[in-house]
Amino acid sequence: MNHMHLSFKSISENESFARFVVSAFIAPLDPTLDEVNEIKTVVSEAVTNAIIHGYEQSDQFDIYLSCELNGDRLRIVIEDFGVGIKDLDLAKEVLYTSKPEMERSGMGFTIMENLMDRLQVESAYGEGTKVTLEK
Ligand code: ATP
Ligand code: MG
Repeated sequence: MNHMHLSFKSISENESFARFVVSAFIAPLDPTLDEVNEIKTVVSEAVTNAIIHGYEQSDQFDIYLSCELNGDRLRIVIEDFGVGIKDLDLAKEVLYTSKPEMERSGMGFTIMENLMDRLQVESAYGEGTKVTLEK
């Protein structure tokens, strides 16, 4: 059993920081390279969403990351207190993006869902978004 909590500024430089921290956290599990890359990918997707959608690229806010290891079960939580999501079902649809002009592809949630055993998204419009990923 282990856990960690962290917050960092909502800037794109911190995407790689978050990926690095989570891969260091899971190192004791002796993951394969593929497993590490999958975890890094889902962390990137969720942190990118917090930066570009949650905080609309303002660098005045913080993103909250926590990880919990229970045996070989991993839970990652990525949370922002930004704009929130009005329609969660729509947001999770494959290829749906609210920012087509930014050339987003609407694949983030689908990738998270496919690479992890469980994806939970909690969001309140105007309050923020909390993404929980489990494997
Ligand atoms: P891609 O991830 O492929 O670059 P995307 O970010 O638009 O494109 P998803 O990650 O699947 O696609 O997210 C779908 C939609 O959900 C986003 O377009 C956005 O409207 C909404 N969304 C996702 N995360 C957040 C968040 N943290 N805060 C507010 N809205 C969000
Ligand atoms: Mg995305």
